[in-house]
Amino acid sequence: MTVPFRVGQGLDVHAFSDDPDRPLVLGGVVVPGGPGLAGHSDADVVLHAIVDALLGAAGLGDIGSRFGSARPEYARADSSVFVREALRLLAAGGWSIGNVDCSLVAARPRLAQHREAMLVRVAGLLGVEPAQASVKATTTDGLGWTGRGEGIACLAVVLLSRDPVR
Ligand SMILES: [Zn+2]
Repeated sequence: MTVPFRVGQGLDVHAFSDDPDRPLVLGGVVVPGGPGLAGHSDADVVLHAIVDALLGAAGLGDIGSRFGSARPEYARADSSVFVREALRLLAAGGWSIGNVDCSLVAARPRLAQHREAMLVRVAGLLGVEPAQASVKATTTDGLGWTGRGEGIACLAVVLLSRDPVR
């Protein structure tokens, strides 16, 4: 029997960029004041972690192999492109999203005031109700590279479901 539920996890990390003009984009939201994150695309750690969780849950590989830095068309790409492509793959497999939960790990900048905007944007991009999405932010209490403010990490967990009669 086909399992009607699948769980997936994603982890993404980007270092802060030296480029003062690079915006900080988290969950599809530009966070004013930055600093921006370095990366091939827009370096949106939240969307990257979610896409990896979605692909992992559906057994469809990972974001690196599908949208990796070897692909010049994804340079500076808006990461919502990756979300849309992952959703297309999921729909083709009959999967729909039950819920998604994200944990940002960042010593800087302060993200609490942007959480709601990120949640609404993430839910919108995923085509789910805001109640099906969660975006949290935490620190590592000064420990390690995130504690030193060298970059931002995000973990995401998703639950997919599909009609068992398929
Ligand atoms: Zn990434």
